[in-house]
Amino acid sequence: MVNGYTAASLRDALDVRAAHKVVPYTGGTDLMVENRPDATYLFLNKIPELKQISLDEDFIRIGAGVTFTQALADSRVPPIMKDAVSLIAAPAIRNAGTFGGNLGNGSAKADSVLIEYVADAKLRLLSVRGERIVDVDRFYLGRKKLDLAEDELIVEVLLPNTGLERYYYQKVGGRNALAISRVAFAGVFAAEDGKITNIAAAFGAVADTVLRFQDLESRMLGKSLEEAKALKDEYLKAYADRMVLTRGRVSAEYRKKVCMNLLDEFLTQFGI
Ligand SMILES: Cc1cc2nc3c(=O)[nH]c(=O)nc-3n(C[C@H](O)[C@H](O)[C@H](O)COP(=O)(O)OP(=O)(O)OC[C@H]3O[C@@H](n4cnc5c(N)ncnc54)[C@H](O)[C@@H]3O)c2cc1C
Repeated sequence: MVNGYTAASLRDALDVRAAHKVVPYTGGTDLMVENRPDATYLFLNKIPELKQISLDEDFIRIGAGVTFTQALADSRVPPIMKDAVSLIAAPAIRNAGTFGGNLGNGSAKADSVLIEYVADAKLRLLSVRGERIVDVDRFYLGRKKLDLAEDELIVEVLLPNTGLERYYYQKVGGRNALAISRVAFAGVFAAEDGKITNIAAAFGAVADTVLRFQDLESRMLGKSLEEAKALKDEYLKAYADRMVLTRGRVSAEYRKKVCMNLLDEFLTQFGI
């Protein structure tokens, strides 16, 4: 028998979270494969406030309880995010799996989280004590380690609503592939008046958290395409030096080579 509380509103959920030691449960696609007989769950999948997608001046706000299928059907969700979530598992998982659960699982393989990293997304966390807005890369403290207090819930993902139009995304190998560990890559590019104004690159599934190196990205900012091309070899080498991959079924050297090829292709796609 499963122990738990079912919250009908966000307020109820936060009250239960503050008063009891509970495991938040949304789609259950990660939790159902764990064996936690002693856990008490807080069921969040009936809370309307968590299932909304909305738009404001700065952000596309995706509720933590929004499923991947719901996001795929919504015209406000940017193509880069749709590309990533459309490759998550199979329809049954996409129908139940949510953005909040993908974050809460704390895995560097989480496909929507990779896009949140490269997009400079923020997370809205709530507890009875109030609200916190946290940059996604600061939310991940390590493998399965999150900056989430025992009484907090992830409530929304805030994706910037501009700057994601020009992108490159690849997921190599499948979660169910038998022979190959997967690598995922997302890059976002923008230029104005011939100068690079944004060039972000993130790597999923290769380390304890998604990898992104903003100090390396900044070397290309403000450069023309010609200047960027001249820097390319040095830039790729700086990434190769910096990237330390965790061991997997497939060698770290091989996966690193895949990462470097993807980064190279991203740069080439945007004329670098
Ligand atoms: C067969 C299979 C294939 C899969 N393939 C992929 C894949 O290709 N790509 C991928 O990224 N994932 C994949 N997953 C993993 C999973 O489907 C996703 O991580 C999904 O987003 C989890 O969402 P959920 O709502 O089901 O989470 P749940 O199982 O409900 O919860 C997951 C974790 O998040 C926490 N949590 C949930 N909601 C909140 C909240 N609002 N606030 C705080 N914590 C919360 C839970 O406590 C738990 O620790 C797969 C899973 C299975 C079983």
